[in-house]
Amino acid sequence: MIRPALTLRRRRILVDVGTQRDLFTADGKACIRNHRRVLANIRRVMAWVRKNHIRVISTVQFFNSDLQKRPYCIAGTDGARKISYTQLAHFLEFPSDGYTDFSRDLFDQYDQVIQEIRSSDPFEEPRADRILSEVKATDFLVIGGPTETTVKYMVLGLLLRKKNVTVLTDAIGSIEKHPSEIALRQMQAKGARLIDSKTLVGGGRLQRVGICSCDRCRGRLLKVCAEQD
Ligand SMILES: [Zn+2]
Repeated sequence: MIRPALTLRRRRILVDVGTQRDLFTADGKACIRNHRRVLANIRRVMAWVRKNHIRVISTVQFFNSDLQKRPYCIAGTDGARKISYTQLAHFLEFPSDGYTDFSRDLFDQYDQVIQEIRSSDPFEEPRADRILSEVKATDFLVIGGPTETTVKYMVLGLLLRKKNVTVLTDAIGSIEKHPSEIALRQMQAKGARLIDSKTLVGGGRLQRVGICSCDRCRGRLLKVCAEQD
């Protein structure tokens, strides 16, 4: 099959930050607020990405268990696993190894790059810094979490590298409300565009979260979606 990505008029890239079980499911160690709504929006964004052959750069954070201030996404645990629908069929995963190497035709061969990171700032990982700095795209669309840490560092770092950044505000999740509001204001002040994912991908019929087994997620998103549609 011929992949049309390189001929797209607007070459957009999705930047998918930390979409892992500990942050996005009810039984995770640091579940975000409103996880059901955020997960449903992320799922819709990923369906749109698949349909439109958008390339994806993902970061997954793996912390060490001795870092007590961040007792989530511990390497090797179930909670560190990526949310299944944020992973495309053809992906390449890079370990956090301090190296900067990657093949120039990466996105001809793969739909998605998944880079492991060991700190909340993805730019502290040399390969992540290089890929994010060198990839050419008209717009970097950002989803994931947490808003107040990893998403903020991702967005501010991209802006510093003169990228156009659009934050899909209903497809990012925060652990704490106030710090995340401040983070969003910072991102906007530095030039990030903040939009609702529905503006970009439409409402869609995918209303189930799928991945989380809590009572709220197993029901349909009746109230929340009805209010927003
Ligand atoms: Zn849930």
